[in-house]
Amino acid sequence: MSVDRVLAVVIEHDQGKTKLVSLEVLSAARKLADQISGKVIAFCFNHAANLEAELFIQYGADEVRFLTHPDLQHYIHENYVFALLRELEKSSFDYLLLPATNNGKELSAVISAKLGVGVATDCISLSVSEAGDVEAVRPVSSGKAHSNIRFSGKKPHILSLRPNVFRSPPLSRQGEIVTAEIQLPELSQRVRELVKQVGSELDITEARIVVSGGLGMQGPENFKLLEELAGVLGGAVGASRPVVDNGWRDYSNQVGQTGRTVSPDLYFACGISGAVQHLAGMSSSRCIVAINSDPNAAIFSVADYGIVGDAIKVVPVLTQEFKKIITS
Ligand SMILES: Cc1cc2nc3c(=O)[nH]c(=O)nc-3n(C[C@H](O)[C@H](O)[C@H](O)COP(=O)(O)OP(=O)(O)OC[C@H]3O[C@@H](n4cnc5c(N)ncnc54)[C@H](O)[C@@H]3O)c2cc1C
Repeated sequence: MSVDRVLAVVIEHDQGKTKLVSLEVLSAARKLADQISGKVIAFCFNHAANLEAELFIQYGADEVRFLTHPDLQHYIHENYVFALLRELEKSSFDYLLLPATNNGKELSAVISAKLGVGVATDCISLSVSEAGDVEAVRPVSSGKAHSNIRFSGKKPHILSLRPNVFRSPPLSRQGEIVTAEIQLPELSQRVRELVKQVGSELDITEARIVVSGGLGMQGPENFKLLEELAGVLGGAVGASRPVVDNGWRDYSNQVGQTGRTVSPDLYFACGISGAVQHLAGMSSSRCIVAINSDPNAAIFSVADYGIVGDAIKVVPVLTQEFKKIITS
């Protein structure tokens, strides 16, 4: 096969377990590569090579490169930047694709600055121009408009892809697997402990189900109800901004214009009024369920299902009903 372009994909994992969004990025890279005679190389920085290499190939990689070091078990920004730059300098790459997760966004911004190359973050659509160049669409102005991105200048051009948007099934494919140990700068014990703590929670931007609460939840103690519902469904808990401003939830939970943008399959808005700044972060969810005591709440205008009622009473009922269905 003659290869015209090389696309690098960074696989993201949490304590060795591959994040689903990485498979989406691989699929998207594969679709582009098929249109531009491209080769897809998946970079997996991990503490050890794992058995998922075949999966990466099925989702689109032509080659999987495991770069291993004990300090790569968790995402540590400095290590990833060091290792990725080292790999990118070894040969020439046309495109670098990453998930638009917190880690992926951070990594793409720093690599872009260090290499002096262009970056398109949070892309929701990719295509190939007549000239054979990759183009991207990304939302701007809180999702009110879309920006069409064309790259020029130094390569690799960097794209981070929004989670839950580029899903494709695996294919039966062949590929090559390469494993190598790499050297990294020494890390302090304190950094290792901090990274372990942060890495244990499901990131709301990647969750396929998000259960969010607003001021209508009345107090921080009632978020336990949302945690229980999210726990039964395998989802993550989100929050509106005043909830975060009140200190009821951590900022990493905030959904909206000044928080995170989520596109899950299912979004529960519990006691959330539906202000435009909140909608900016969740209106692209595939199915929205709103629970609000005010039948005129704005959130019902974007909801697929609406329940008018007290969220404190409705949420435990939903949790029980889902539990019955899931365990039956
Ligand atoms: C520049 C800027 C950026 C912003 N960024 C964000 C952002 O990123 N994310 C964000 O969320 N907001 C953001 N906001 C704030 C936004 O404008 C709203 O103030 C906020 O979203 C409202 O949060 P809420 O829905 O939790 O609270 P409220 O608007 O007070 O709504 C509470 C809702 O709960 C309902 N309710 C009350 N009791 C119950 C009950 N027992 N059961 C069920 N429902 C009940 C009420 O009917 C009401 O609809 C931003 C604002 C500005 C100006």
